[in-house]
Amino acid sequence: MRRICLLGATGSIGQSTLKLVEQHPDAFQIEALTANSQVEALIALCQKYRPRYACVASEAHYQALRDGLAQAGSSTQAMAGEKALEFLAADTGSDTVVAAIVGAAGVASAMAAARAGKRLLLANKESIVLAGQLFMQTVAEGGAELFPVDSEHNALFQCLPAPGQRQHVRQLILTASGGPFRGKTRSELADITPEQACKHPNWSMGRKISVDSATLMNKGLEVIEAHHLFNMPAAKIDVVVHPQSIVHSMVDFVDGSVLAQLGLPDMRTAIAFGLAYPERIDSGVQALDFKTLSSLEFHAPDRNTFPCLDLAYAAIERAGNAPAVLNAANEVAVAAFLQQKLPFLAIADVIAHTLAQTHWEPADDLAVLTQSDAEARRIAAAFLTSHH
Ligand code: NAD
Ligand code: MG
Repeated sequence: MRRICLLGATGSIGQSTLKLVEQHPDAFQIEALTANSQVEALIALCQKYRPRYACVASEAHYQALRDGLAQAGSSTQAMAGEKALEFLAADTGSDTVVAAIVGAAGVASAMAAARAGKRLLLANKESIVLAGQLFMQTVAEGGAELFPVDSEHNALFQCLPAPGQRQHVRQLILTASGGPFRGKTRSELADITPEQACKHPNWSMGRKISVDSATLMNKGLEVIEAHHLFNMPAAKIDVVVHPQSIVHSMVDFVDGSVLAQLGLPDMRTAIAFGLAYPERIDSGVQALDFKTLSSLEFHAPDRNTFPCLDLAYAAIERAGNAPAVLNAANEVAVAAFLQQKLPFLAIADVIAHTLAQTHWEPADDLAVLTQSDAEARRIAAAFLTSHH
């Protein structure tokens, strides 16, 4: 029986995880559920999954959670705040942590789970972008078992040989759907609305990652993620657009062999893989029907229309705090776009400006990276005020 702490239970990855728990009640039990501020939704989940703890990140919502749980006759204990998230990620009541908070807000709790040596299903890609090397070091020192919950990295994880035998890998090939604006020109993207950007052709996801998919920054973040997760130089990580999202990524070996992992675009496959490893369980995802799959296409990404991809490669090149700065600036820009305070095409401008203006620092200390994250947010916010 796996006992699960689910960070970000009310989100898209959170919901997919809970579907798997519901499907396999004898294998999985929920120990803790967390949300940012959605108290009602969290209480409803507590009534269904009866965790020991429920936690809201926002302390202002503590009382509502505590009182709501009491009114619902629930025995779940209410908690609140950043420190409580870290406590739950490390608490020995759970052996498995699903890190599905969105953004840099999820770093501290994901790190706490790594330090505590948990089985860690990491959906929060921002934490590995922000803290990369340090994150991987913490996983190793804590003895955590890390499973990427990102379809591309889960595919690579499944196709790659053991860490000692990766010298025969020529390159990792990340597939990208191309997002909702694949094939568009820059002039066609000038007046894009948040609703249009969040309408992903293949995946149903939270709003932040949906916008990242539309700008291709999601793929940029994933290149950085792959660089750290699999200890591969950026020069050995390529991106290919594959509009059908059936091939989730590929490993290209020196002898000409290419291994790929395929499946329907549904995150339950990657989550089930991490929950059940080394076993396999029914995830509720339908089998691929090759007889009705009409075609699988592949082509080069349009790096001029979508400059965020190259900004991410540049951040790997600069190393140190550059990926943390890139991530923070992107979070500020995406939030402004979602509030209709920034045009879609200006997201990349905010990031490029912030990368150029933030002081470079080495990346060996989480406190320094957190400061860089804060400095980048200030610079990005100031740029927004002065330009838009
Ligand atoms: P989402 O917006 O649907 O859910 C985010 C969750 O985090 C919610 O439970 C929310 O309450 C919580 N949260 C938000 N802000 C918080 C804060 N400041 N402090 C604490 N909790 C907070 O997002 P999602 O689509 O589920 O994505 C979650 C993470 O997984 C992201 O890092 C995303 O990049 C990654 N991911 C998602 C998918 C997908 O298919 N949805 C695929 C790959 C990777
Ligand atoms: Mg992905």
